[in-house]
Amino acid sequence: MAVTDPRDLHIVVIGAGMGGLGTALAFAKKGFKNIDVYERASNLGFVGAGIQMPPNVIRVLDRLGCWEEIEREATDVKDTSIRQGSTNTELAHVQMPDMREKYGYPHCTGHRASLAGGLENGCKKEKVIKFHFSTELIKVDSYEPRPKITLQPRDGEAYQIECDVLLASDGIKSVTRTQMLGTLGVSSQEEDTGQAAYRIMLKREDMENDPELKALIDCDTVIRWIGEKRHIIAYPVSNHTIYNLSTAQPDSNFAATTNATYTTKGSKSAMLKVYETFCPLVQRMLNLVPDGEVCEWKLRVHKALPTWTHGCVSLLGDACHPTLPHLSQGAAMAIEDGAVLAECISRIPNTQPATIAKALKVFELLRRDHTSMLVDMASYSGRVLHLGEGKAKEERDKEFANHAKNGSVPDKWASPDVQKMIYSYDCVKEAQTKFDELFKSLETPAVAA
Ligand SMILES: Cc1cc2nc3c(=O)[nH]c(=O)nc-3n(C[C@H](O)[C@H](O)[C@H](O)COP(=O)(O)OP(=O)(O)OC[C@H]3O[C@@H](n4cnc5c(N)ncnc54)[C@H](O)[C@@H]3O)c2cc1C
Repeated sequence: MAVTDPRDLHIVVIGAGMGGLGTALAFAKKGFKNIDVYERASNLGFVGAGIQMPPNVIRVLDRLGCWEEIEREATDVKDTSIRQGSTNTELAHVQMPDMREKYGYPHCTGHRASLAGGLENGCKKEKVIKFHFSTELIKVDSYEPRPKITLQPRDGEAYQIECDVLLASDGIKSVTRTQMLGTLGVSSQEEDTGQAAYRIMLKREDMENDPELKALIDCDTVIRWIGEKRHIIAYPVSNHTIYNLSTAQPDSNFAATTNATYTTKGSKSAMLKVYETFCPLVQRMLNLVPDGEVCEWKLRVHKALPTWTHGCVSLLGDACHPTLPHLSQGAAMAIEDGAVLAECISRIPNTQPATIAKALKVFELLRRDHTSMLVDMASYSGRVLHLGEGKAKEERDKEFANHAKNGSVPDKWASPDVQKMIYSYDCVKEAQTKFDELFKSLETPAVAA
């Protein structure tokens, strides 16, 4: 029997990354009763790495009821320091003591497992969400009127399912994106960033015998050491028991490979060579990384997609707007997408496929400009941070020095004007106030019967 209440629609989410978990939880909180999440991995094993959680995403996590748990292990960032990597000289120091007063929420850092764990526990409390691990989407067989997909369990026969709304949070390597754009006859082009990243987690016990390193893990500061074509960003996580470093450097190991490879076991000596011009403080930290535990990630992005949706299928998160990490907004945007999708689908006036397709277009309209702006800004920030000697760098360093007067910092992540724009943005409120108008303004798409 056809459903009439949107909350009875069968929602299928592909991928249980930050975006997928956030989406499933957001739909459950809106009262949807039938949500299936399919994940290729056998469990939610998250990369051992830190993550920044800015106020705009904490606002969403709080509404989803899972922030309290995540906050217990999070570090409240009080300030940020941008330093010349070679000398450790401070270029700018930006105080951030008043995030809660300004934006209603703090700016925090945490362990990825802590953010994912909070979202997962939130999902587990919702009986309407069913997880299917070790199950991979291999084909989107149709996009409308009801999406049909083929799933491949790791130890079993492939099978087909149908649903009312298919939400693909299958990440940067999204199979759904490739297939959707292929069906529409447009190509899905990857853009080479030329950059790769090491992700490093140092233990407190390895740092606390060195007073300078102990001071780093004890503080509430995010520090960025910058140099030509490379930088390191670092902050404490897990109640100051771990010091997280994330780097960006020229990609030399992945350049020859295209789509297939995203991570590689790196060599410690190669990593030390990449940062050999950085100051002794940085060298001491990199030297603490155990041999054989260096892992390098290719940083990948895509050219802007011509569409995020087709019929009753929508992409979200890294599947449609992957970003360089220099603004620390990738996971935040994926989680926001889920909250906006739930808001849009809960507001549809009827459950016909054409109405669902139109609501997904509203989601894209609500999110496209904002996410594109942040993706562009992250890449701009990377270019500015990675300048080599010359006029442009001199200008940049003057701007760093004058930041207190100007209210703007060349490292856009730390810039109060940019923070204001991103952190005060309430994606759910915007969806609530703009949905009806945008929905009315769109033509109802022709959806196959
Ligand atoms: C070095 C680095 C630092 C970063 N720092 C930050 C930060 O501080 N703050 C921030 O907000 N963001 C940060 N990001 C970005 C952030 O990690 C990503 O933007 C975010 O994880 C994207 O979430 P997602 O759910 O869209 O995709 P993913 O997290 O990639 O999840 C995709 C999921 O889908 C599953 N999957 C894929 N294909 C299939 C399939 N066919 N069938 C079933 N399942 C499938 C995968 O196994 C995975 O679980 C950083 C990124 C990098 C590389």
